[in-house]
Amino acid sequence: MNKKIILLFTLSLLVFTFLLGCSQDTSTPDNTSEKKSVITTSTMITDLAQVIANGSDNVTITGIMGPGIDPHLYKPTAGDAELMQKSHLIVYNGLHFEGQMGQLFKQMKSRGIPTISLADSMKDYEGVSFIETDEFGGTHDPHMWFDIPIWKGAAKVMKDALIELDPQNKTLYESNAKVYLEELDQLASYVQNRLKELPVESRVLITAHDAFNYFGRMYDFDVRGVQGISTEAEAGTRDIKDLADFIVERKIGAIFVEASVPRKNIEALQAAVKAQGFNVEIGGELLSDSLSEPGGEADTYLKMIRYNVDTIVNAIQSN
Ligand SMILES: [Zn+2]
Repeated sequence: MNKKIILLFTLSLLVFTFLLGCSQDTSTPDNTSEKKSVITTSTMITDLAQVIANGSDNVTITGIMGPGIDPHLYKPTAGDAELMQKSHLIVYNGLHFEGQMGQLFKQMKSRGIPTISLADSMKDYEGVSFIETDEFGGTHDPHMWFDIPIWKGAAKVMKDALIELDPQNKTLYESNAKVYLEELDQLASYVQNRLKELPVESRVLITAHDAFNYFGRMYDFDVRGVQGISTEAEAGTRDIKDLADFIVERKIGAIFVEASVPRKNIEALQAAVKAQGFNVEIGGELLSDSLSEPGGEADTYLKMIRYNVDTIVNAIQSN
C-alpha cells in the first residue's frame, strides 16, 4: 500500500468514527427527555398538577384535554395513547368522568405506568364523601372538584404522587401543597361570604347538566340540570317540560349555560318557560367540567370557583 491509500483509509476511518460519535450523541437522552412526564386529563387536574409541581425542573405536565372540552365525551386520540405510553405518571379524575378513557387507563396500568384516579385514592380520606348516583355508568357523581374539602384531598394525592415520582423535590412539593391548601381555605371563606348574600329560598341553580350537586350539597342549593350527571345521554322533551314547570312554579329568575356543554338545551328550556308566559334570563356561562382558555377569567381552579360563585350570586340577585 502506498502512503496515499493509507492516508485515505485513515481519513475515512476517522470520518466513520466521527459519524458514529454523532449518532450516539443523538441517542443519549438530552435534558428534556430526562424529565419525568406527567399526563393529566381534565383542565382542573392539569392546573392542580402545575400548582403542586411549580418550580420543579424534573417533571413536565401535559394535559390531554384542552379548555372547553367535555371530558364525559372526550375520545382519546392515537397521539394521546402514545403520550401516555411514554409517560411516567398518569393522573385522572375517575368515577367515570373520563367516560371514554377507561380502557386506556387499564392498558397503561398493565404496562406498569403509575395510573392514579384521584377519586379512588381518596376513598379512605377523612371528610371525603362522594355523592351516590345510579344515573349513569358510575355509582358516584364525578364532579367532586366543586366540594372544596374534597379538592384539598385531591391536592394531597397529587403531592404524594409527585413525591413518589421525584423524591428529590419532596420539600418543594410539600411546600407548594401547604401554600395551596391555605389558598383553598381562603377560597372556601370567599364562597361562604358571597353566598351569605343569597337567602336560602333563592338558592336554586339550574344548569345545562348535573355538574353542581357537590356545590348544592355544600351550600344548600336546590340543583337541577337539563341533562343528567353525564352529558352522554341527551335531554328529552319531558325533562325540559318538567324543568320549565318547576321554573314557572318557583318563579326562578335565572338559569345558566355551561362553557363545555352546547347552549341549545338551556335555550330550549328558556323558550319552554316563555311559552308559559314567564321570563327566565340566562344568568351567564358557568365553568363546570373545564377551565377557561389561558388568560381567561377562570383559567385556574381558584379563579373558576370564584368566577362561578360571582356569576351565580350576581345573576340571582339581579333577576
Ligand atoms: Zn359533567
